[in-house]
Amino acid sequence: MMTRSIRQKIEKRLLKKRIIDSNGCWIFTGHLNNKGYGVIHYDQGHIFVHRLSMKLYRSDEYSDNLNVLHKCDIRKCFNPEHLFMGTQSDNIRDCVVKGRHKSGFAGDFKRWNVK
Ligand SMILES: [Zn+2]
Repeated sequence: MMTRSIRQKIEKRLLKKRIIDSNGCWIFTGHLNNKGYGVIHYDQGHIFVHRLSMKLYRSDEYSDNLNVLHKCDIRKCFNPEHLFMGTQSDNIRDCVVKGRHKSGFAGDFKRWNVK
């Protein structure tokens, strides 16, 4: 469990590297990993800033066993209101809904409509 002073220290570091965009996203201006997620030194290692944000601001919902996912689809966003806990399969389903994974079906469907 995080003590109050550690919590305040880490929160300060996090908020120093925040810009809020017009969508309300908290854009992390610090180091991003190769996938575009914000990372910060924490507890002798690294932690994703969106995970840390969930841990700080919505600790009652936070679980180490679940993924922290973005509703807004902005990987470097760490607004706790834009995050939710989910499993890996939620993540994949989420991608499908948002159209990141194209199925072959759309292509076939078009072909059937050729006049
Ligand atoms: Zn966002």
